Amino acid sequence: MEYRFLGKSGLKVSALSYGAWVTFYNQADEDMAYQLMTKAFDHGINFFDNAEAYAEGNAEIIMGKVFKREGWKRSDFVVSTKIFWGGPGVNDRGLSFKHVIEGTNAALKRLQLEYVDLIFCHRPDIYTPIEETVWAMNQVIHQGKAFYWGTSEWSAEQIREAHRIAEKNHLIPPLMEQPQYNLFTRNKVEKEYAKLYEEFGLGTTIWSPLASGLLSGKYISGIPKGSRLDLKEMGWLKKRIERETTEARIKQTIELRDLADEMEATLPQLSLAWCLTNPNVSTVITGASKPEQIEENMKALEVVPKLTPEVLSRIDDIMGNKPAVDFDWREN
Ligand code: NDP
Repeated sequence: MEYRFLGKSGLKVSALSYGAWVTFYNQADEDMAYQLMTKAFDHGINFFDNAEAYAEGNAEIIMGKVFKREGWKRSDFVVSTKIFWGGPGVNDRGLSFKHVIEGTNAALKRLQLEYVDLIFCHRPDIYTPIEETVWAMNQVIHQGKAFYWGTSEWSAEQIREAHRIAEKNHLIPPLMEQPQYNLFTRNKVEKEYAKLYEEFGLGTTIWSPLASGLLSGKYISGIPKGSRLDLKEMGWLKKRIERETTEARIKQTIELRDLADEMEATLPQLSLAWCLTNPNVSTVITGASKPEQIEENMKALEVVPKLTPEVLSRIDDIMGNKPAVDFDWREN
């Protein structure tokens, strides 16, 4: 396993990590979660991602049981949770001071932990002033309930605003962002945040590196039984992905699969390795639902050196979506 610094911090996270989102809906069964997490840990994964929203809190309960059952030394793993969707009550959602504190306390109880290493604002909250959230996150850190705080799917401007407020009030600014990043979705990580890496030492813990499984190739000719899009809880995701799965995307997926074949790799390995080539990615959160997928995905690290500039430019040609950063209009 390779370990990378999380942004400018002194914390090291495994380049491939493991997240509990759909997997723990699908496997609301502690034994499978145990198998998946121990397999990941045995491969050197030290970062486990979670959220108060996943399986309505059950993902944290299951993960907490695995930590307890396995008895890993606390310093050997890094765990996160994300606060935003905590339940149906009017004050169980969003990033108010009240929900940040209450949500964090409830998450720690479910995880059976004294602290999480990372705590994220799972989305921006259009109703809560960013200043209120920055103070609340600082309170969480000062109470020793988290070490670093970050955002997920915030705009560059919202992240800058949080930094401005933190600087003005001598508070701790957000360290990391959790954006979607994969071969289909590049803009935020490569363009919108481009200046934040140097400006703030922003780290990124990127999600859906296989676009929910699309970049495994399994949906090329329909939805296989038992796959994520076949789960009844994922009806909303199925609708969204069906909308996004154009013929062009299917063609790109097939071309990528052919390229992976040429390189004696699988499509998931190529897709994960591609994410890892971006030096601004601190960790790629994988979401395997079967131990064999973890075995396969870990080999992505061996594919990274095969992604030469020539191969990367072939991938760009297939995808046609490389963001133009600082476009030189004089040359146009
Ligand atoms: P991926 O895009 O990698 O999708 C994972 C799914 O792809 C698996 O469940 C599995 O689907 C399929 N898959 C994985 N490996 C293979 C393989 N080798 N062969 C075939 N199929 C494979 O990641 P996720 O969407 O799960 O995101 C990863 C993590 O990121 C989440 O668990 C969560 O922690 C985090 N996340 C954060 C979000 C945020 O808003 N901050 C949003 C979404 C995710 P199947 O079950 O069908 O086999």
